[in-house]
Amino acid sequence: MNIDQTLAPALAERRSAHLYRARKLLQSPQTPQVIVDGKPYLAFCSNDYLGLANHPDVISALQASAQTFGVGSGASHLVAGHSSEHHALEEELAAFTGRERALLFSTGYMANVGAITALVGQGDAIFEDRLNHASLLDAGLLSGARFQRFLHNDVDNLQNRLDKTDAARKLIVVDGVFSMDGDCAPLPELAALAQKNNAWLMVDDAHGFGCLGKTGAGSAEHFGLTQEQLPILMGTLGKAAGSFGAFIAGSEILIETLIQFARPYIYTTAMPPAVAAATRASLRIIQHEHWRREHLAQLIAHFRKGAAALGLQLMDSFSPIQPIVIGDEAKALLISQKLAERGILIVAIRPPTVPVGSSRLRITFSAQHAIEQVDQLLAVLADVIDAVGREVAHD
Ligand SMILES: *Cc1c(COP(=O)(O)O)cnc(C)c1O
Repeated sequence: MNIDQTLAPALAERRSAHLYRARKLLQSPQTPQVIVDGKPYLAFCSNDYLGLANHPDVISALQASAQTFGVGSGASHLVAGHSSEHHALEEELAAFTGRERALLFSTGYMANVGAITALVGQGDAIFEDRLNHASLLDAGLLSGARFQRFLHNDVDNLQNRLDKTDAARKLIVVDGVFSMDGDCAPLPELAALAQKNNAWLMVDDAHGFGCLGKTGAGSAEHFGLTQEQLPILMGTLGKAAGSFGAFIAGSEILIETLIQFARPYIYTTAMPPAVAAATRASLRIIQHEHWRREHLAQLIAHFRKGAAALGLQLMDSFSPIQPIVIGDEAKALLISQKLAERGILIVAIRPPTVPVGSSRLRITFSAQHAIEQVDQLLAVLADVIDAVGREVAHD
């Protein structure tokens, strides 16, 4: 058998299980009104929660910086690629999150793999919520530490597991806001548990950063957790910040450890300095334009009220992630297709991204959406779910 003959059966299997993934072609900026595969849609599926991905100040910061610094950084941070834009962004991220220092990574995936593999290894133990993001699970497996997953948001289950370990280092890792459910981790309880058990707490705040907290600094600010209580804080810059990249914030010693030992930090080209400059502009908007978070909260409340009135099953989420669990993979796909026929873009999220049998419409909101657009979504959702329900019942 040649390579294609060997690979083809797994693709066929994926297709027949309704789990095949295809990319849509985005032909516009990431805004509520997008052009996809040549057609206009009202979209509810980006992670650009604050509507900054296409903000004029962020765009002009990128343009101005490219004029000054060019495009490519040309080298890794430790060789000759660490520009003054990267450095200034790190200082601003540290100040914003109330940590001693912050370290910029090219992506959130790399930040998670870099931090976790630098901090734990053989002889250590890592405890992850079972709904953690794939990058955290991959990092845990790659680290070589004894890897355990505890029940979602179940502090007692975690304590039981901690009681049974005699590992040298113990690392607890959770999403601050869970990416596919939208609910928050019980961070104050987890921080107390970590302290009591002499374990370290790491939070991936990809979906909290920018959205939660009075000034948008994320889950740590929302719960008032200091660097002492939450020593390893990770955030991404490609979601609410509307840019690209990620960071780890914490103590001086933590950051120096990552610079020395985090391989995905060391062995990769630094992000373009203009991207860091764009992120600096978006940080200023996050900190000063509180109306974005306030408007988002109004959209979310409006949606939840309307969806509950339609009898739709909501999740325990006050974040911009408002999934509607459908269950069956094929049915979730069908609903997503029917929504698209009506001009609404919402992607069906299926296994292995979510557990089997919990396929869902992952609805997300942006500060750029208007209340009227949420009403439009609710009206179409009501029609489509009703129609698909009847269709499935007749099968
Ligand atoms: C998106 C995401 C990441 C990965 O971040 P990238 O910058 O996109 O690589 C990590 N963790 C969580 C929870 C995420 O949602």
